[in-house]
Amino acid sequence: MTRSLMVTGAAGFIGANFVYHWVQAHPNDTVVAYDALTYAGNRASLAPLEAAGQLHFVQGDICDSECVSQTLANYDIDTLVHFAAESHVDRSITGPDAFIQTNLVGTHTLLAAGRAHWLAGTGRPHRFHHVSTDEVFGSLSSDAPAFTEHLRYEPNSPYSASKAGSDHLVRAYHHTYGLEVTTSNCSNNYGPFHFPEKLIPLCLTNILDGRSLPVYGDGTNIRDWLYVVDHARGIDRVIDSGKPGETYNIGGNNEWANLAIVELLCDHLDARFASEPSLAARFPKSPAANRESRGLIQFVDDRAGHDWRYAIDANKIEKELGFVPSETFETGIAKTLDWYLDNEDWWRPLLQRA
Ligand code: NAD
Repeated sequence: MTRSLMVTGAAGFIGANFVYHWVQAHPNDTVVAYDALTYAGNRASLAPLEAAGQLHFVQGDICDSECVSQTLANYDIDTLVHFAAESHVDRSITGPDAFIQTNLVGTHTLLAAGRAHWLAGTGRPHRFHHVSTDEVFGSLSSDAPAFTEHLRYEPNSPYSASKAGSDHLVRAYHHTYGLEVTTSNCSNNYGPFHFPEKLIPLCLTNILDGRSLPVYGDGTNIRDWLYVVDHARGIDRVIDSGKPGETYNIGGNNEWANLAIVELLCDHLDARFASEPSLAARFPKSPAANRESRGLIQFVDDRAGHDWRYAIDANKIEKELGFVPSETFETGIAKTLDWYLDNEDWWRPLLQRA
């Protein structure tokens, strides 16, 4: 079957990776990228697809009901994949308003437009897939079992609370109106096109430029990491075979303390500079040339309300939809590092915005 997809937030980190995955896996589908191009959105990430005529781009806000409705109608959209969000926890602490507007009001605007577009009259086949986060479940102690889909929501930051609220709205539109929705809750992603305000790209670009590596508290907080293309593949499985009304966790069984990740990135870049002497000339300020990247690590005051540990139990998607990640952490980190070394043109201009 062919689909007509509208992908909100497609110029962001995961949305862009998803669009590349989808275009390759489903070349006959129509794909429309819908994005407001906030500080986190980068149309350049999609340029090769646009140039090849494989992607339509609409610059629009998900809170703009008219623009959303017109896009649904113009491209006869049957599948809406919703990534657009304010996504950075630190920004939600200093300025929560934008998170409520985009993550709650924006998600509701999409749901209402989808309902009008798909459910009027006798209705037509459709899917609304909502992309959410493991942060809605709150924080785990060291020995607690990983988050399952049935765990009570306990969001702790304005970011996770706004995502939790959007998950509830999606659920309610299924229960109340019969909108065919699915939701996925994923752990921390890493990989290409990741904005350099987030931990892994921040560390990579700071090591290359010789800037300090800020680590919150004592660095022992734990996150569960998944390569972004595996997230895209997992969402594809849910859109293809997931049951409307269901939620699916997506994760990689890959828990790391923040400090251990930062040290790993330091060691990887030190080793890379050792095996590729030309890198020292390209990045003259980098201590990796002298195998001293770890010297950039600087402990800073902990984030307010910092969640201690996230861990995803991904058994449901494996058992019901047969999905398992393809990348190990070693292969995923190696690909990410290669990508940042090969795509300085992409990340360097973004440092001013971070
Ligand atoms: P991102 O910040 O990189 O990208 C967000 C995109 O949404 C940007 O292109 C931005 O321009 C766009 N956008 C923001 N507000 C908009 C609005 N009002 N209208 C239209 N477009 C708007 O985010 P990301 O890391 O790619 O995350 C995508 C989704 O995945 C989010 O919903 C996030 O909650 C979820 N998620 C992220 C992670 C992660 O590790 N990054 C993990 C699990 C879930």
